[in-house]
Amino acid sequence: MEVFRNLGIVDKFLEEAFHALTFNFYNEGQSVAQFSLDQLDSPYAAIFVLPQARTEVILGEYLANTYGIKVERNTELLDFENSQDKVTVNIRKITSNGREKMETMQVKYLIGCDGAHSTTRKKLGLQFEGLSIKNRWCFMDVELVTNLPTRHGFNILWKGGNALLLIPMGNNIYRILIDSDSSNRSHTDYSHEEYIEAATSLIAPYTFDVKKVAWFTNFQVNERKVKEYSQGRVFLCGDAAHIHSPGGGQGMNTGIQDAYNLVWKLALIERNHGDMSILTSSYTKERAPIAVDVLATSGTILRTFLSNASFLSSIRSQIVYTLSSFAFTRSTVAQKLVGFAIEYPQGPLTVPHGGWISQGPTSIKAGRRVPDITFSGWEGKNLHDFFSNPTAFHILVWVPPTNISKHTAYLEALQCSITKLRNAYEGATPFFETLVITDERYSDNKVSNSLLKRNFGSIYYANFDELQVKFGFTHNDPVILIVRPDGYLGLALYLRNSSQICEYFAPFMNN
Ligand SMILES: Cc1cc2nc3c(=O)[nH]c(=O)nc-3n(C[C@H](O)[C@H](O)[C@H](O)COP(=O)(O)OP(=O)(O)OC[C@H]3O[C@@H](n4cnc5c(N)ncnc54)[C@H](O)[C@@H]3O)c2cc1C
Repeated sequence: MEVFRNLGIVDKFLEEAFHALTFNFYNEGQSVAQFSLDQLDSPYAAIFVLPQARTEVILGEYLANTYGIKVERNTELLDFENSQDKVTVNIRKITSNGREKMETMQVKYLIGCDGAHSTTRKKLGLQFEGLSIKNRWCFMDVELVTNLPTRHGFNILWKGGNALLLIPMGNNIYRILIDSDSSNRSHTDYSHEEYIEAATSLIAPYTFDVKKVAWFTNFQVNERKVKEYSQGRVFLCGDAAHIHSPGGGQGMNTGIQDAYNLVWKLALIERNHGDMSILTSSYTKERAPIAVDVLATSGTILRTFLSNASFLSSIRSQIVYTLSSFAFTRSTVAQKLVGFAIEYPQGPLTVPHGGWISQGPTSIKAGRRVPDITFSGWEGKNLHDFFSNPTAFHILVWVPPTNISKHTAYLEALQCSITKLRNAYEGATPFFETLVITDERYSDNKVSNSLLKRNFGSIYYANFDELQVKFGFTHNDPVILIVRPDGYLGLALYLRNSSQICEYFAPFMNN
């Protein structure tokens, strides 16, 4: 949702999606645990359920309205040649009168978002390593009436060792995930009636009155991924690079985040002479571990919580009860579910400021999502509102207004570094923006205002308690944060070391 917000399309999702606020667990008809997302530091503290086809339409409209780009359907990539400065692709089109038309075109980059059976991946010769789980699961969209008290949240129900996942989609439509047996029946041998019967018994003593079955499928889960996400100018995103159980609801989200991680790097290469080799190799380095984690988490959810006769079925209700009993574990589960736990590893774009034990300039680790804060006096504008340009870095400068005069020399040195940076790399397109943040309680402090305005133009005032909790800022030390275009922390440093901002950019920018 934060990616969609940056693209300016989140309102459509908020308007159309069903907002589920809780994750509930039942065992033998009794409620055993509840996880809520409401403690998350985000305006999107819910699970938003929207059919993927609608998501694709909204994204297609965004492309058309913002960039005038039309998605061409009935167009198939046949093969390609990946050379040093371009990719030559051969495609087959089916025209409006049903004719087949071959085309060859040259493109700067090819991004294969062509799903689990990806032609791009196969042509690159990349192995899709992993396994296929023998069991089958059933997915069904049904219109039903139930008196389950938590029917507006996600529900996992266990009974007699069997498991059911019930997902609300709004208007009395629910998606059901249920384990098929592990017998060797072919997938066409299954009927939806047997699942409705199983679901009715699993949900008892609550009622489960099915009005209509809208969709039904029976599928096998694959857990596979590639090692390398790119070769030269060709990249893989989404299911082309990794597939896993739909249990954790992370497939599409992970694919969208792959693309969001990649495209700002390509934009930097194209617009500001970013170093192609370093920026593109960081794509695999950052995103491949995320896929490993998603495969492991979604696999664990599937095997432990959504399987019949799971080897942990006798104690799984105890596990979720224990996890839900502590604020820390509840928060960890919520963070993981919504992707806030993502942490990119150390690399040229993510420079750590010390180990987790040492006290760095900020409490956020490099490689983690930068939290949002509200600025006062900017019509309720938030920090994240500035992230709507997904190709620009943000240099955030926290300046405590008390005793500001002792920081004067450092602020001037920072201004020099910023000018140096601008002169060195900035072509036609600005690639960074500077935001100077100070404590709103001192907004009428003439000395600090005049000093900051003289150096930086605008000042952003924020609540110090919020800054302290979310960033660990203090009134002693001014701090600089370099936020990457995708909203993750690249580097944190003390203002007195401001020349390091040039050192941060030097390895991946060519002047
Ligand atoms: C039953 C089920 C439930 C799921 N539930 C969730 C969920 O709740 N949350 C979630 O985040 N994810 C969920 N997922 C996963 C999610 O659907 C996928 O991760 C997502 O669709 C991947 O998107 P993608 O664009 O990478 O690939 P796809 O959606 O597979 O799209 C690939 C596209 O490429 C096209 N294509 C293929 N080959 C070529 C070619 N040679 N030339 C041109 N085009 C080509 C295909 O026609 C297709 O349009 C679920 C998946 C399943 C099966």
